[in-house]
Amino acid sequence: GRPVVAIVGRPNVGKSTLFNKLAGKRIAIVEDKPGVTRDRIYAEGEWLNKHFTMIDTGGIEPDTEDIILSQMRRQAEMAIETGDVILFIVDGKAGITPADREIAQMLRKSKKKVILVCNKIDTHLTPDTVYEFYELGMDELAVISAGQGLGLGDLLDMVIAHF
Ligand code: GDP
Ligand code: MG
Repeated sequence: GRPVVAIVGRPNVGKSTLFNKLAGKRIAIVEDKPGVTRDRIYAEGEWLNKHFTMIDTGGIEPDTEDIILSQMRRQAEMAIETGDVILFIVDGKAGITPADREIAQMLRKSKKKVILVCNKIDTHLTPDTVYEFYELGMDELAVISAGQGLGLGDLLDMVIAHF
């Protein structure tokens, strides 16, 4: 089947924003899975003629304030199980949080291909908070603003290089 790109990260880092942005613009959606179309948890995507399935593992979050660590762990497990490439989203402006460390530890153990995505960098200046994320030990790091649509092409180039 098609390679799977799984999006994971603690609540409120911008997973859904990124997912919707990629599905809505940069990627032509071929189909939504029946039954979950409204949640947009799955989308079929394409970039430079490479086709893949994208999953927002946080897409089923009922309300971000309800999310507890155990639920986040389940989402990370889902990403590890299903993803060929994992996009680990963090808030690049906020810096590392304990929840980020928890997810990072699970991903490192998994030996999966992980791209750490520092989101919410809305300007072309990269703040120092971004550099501290190298300490999480991920293979690759991308800097984006899902909200402003910055860095998405470069991120997709990094993703499809793994297929
Ligand atoms: P999720 O819980 O990880 O799915 O995060 P959401 O996509 O729901 O976004 C959480 C909040 O962050 C929302 O208020 C978004 O508008 C905001 N957000 C997402 N991406 C960006 C970004 O690139 N820049 C800024 N400034 N805010 C963002
Ligand atoms: Mg979400």
